[in-house]
Amino acid sequence: MLRRASPLAKLISAAKPSRLNQAEAGITSKARTPIINFVLGGPGVGKGTQCTRIAETFGFTHLSVGDLLRKEISSNTEYGGMILDKITKGKIVESEVTVKLLKIAIESNEADRFLIDGFPRSEENRVAYEQIIGIEPEVVLFFDCNEEEMLKRVLHRNQGRVDDNIDSTMERLKVFEAYTLPVIRYYSQKGKLHKINAIGTEDEIFERVQPIFTT
Ligand code: UDP
Ligand code: MG
Repeated sequence: MLRRASPLAKLISAAKPSRLNQAEAGITSKARTPIINFVLGGPGVGKGTQCTRIAETFGFTHLSVGDLLRKEISSNTEYGGMILDKITKGKIVESEVTVKLLKIAIESNEADRFLIDGFPRSEENRVAYEQIIGIEPEVVLFFDCNEEEMLKRVLHRNQGRVDDNIDSTMERLKVFEAYTLPVIRYYSQKGKLHKINAIGTEDEIFERVQPIFTT
């Protein structure tokens, strides 16, 4: 394999585990505990689009966990192959890897207000987050939409993603229902959930979101 043959690739892959190991040092090195909000919803519901607008309007730093994982694939790190396999199959990446990547992303950013997009995707993700990062989210947004509409949006968005095809998306919808809905119910019971009707234009949906951050 090219990765094994190239000395540079060897250097890179040797460097990556230690970068991930930094995550074990603890988040307390940050002077202040940042504010964390989670943004959840099924595939293609518009989490990323709305997060961009929320971030611009209300001064949050937007971290898409799917993007963090895709960056690992394109940088060909030791986890890249495993992540590509999970994403292509519409499955959830092992919590330990995801949470460490998220921790590094939060710690390496000066910002003190974050929107975490597309995470936690399962109760296991949520528990790992609590153990490794442990910052209680202030608000959890849930963009709600029916499955036919989500499928239609994914198949029409043309972003060149390996998982934007019918088979992967059917699996993502199943995974969302089986694993992510329990997380949504958990935060609903804690009184942190804000459910937003995600049917409508981008502007209409953003208007529904705004009051959550202005009051
Ligand atoms: N993913 C994951 N854990 C996460 C976030 C994403 O395993 O915390 C993987 C999972 O395979 C998912 C894919 O990344 O199907 C794409 O996630 P993203 O949030 O980008 O997709 P969306 O749901 O917005 O279409
Ligand atoms: Mg997204």
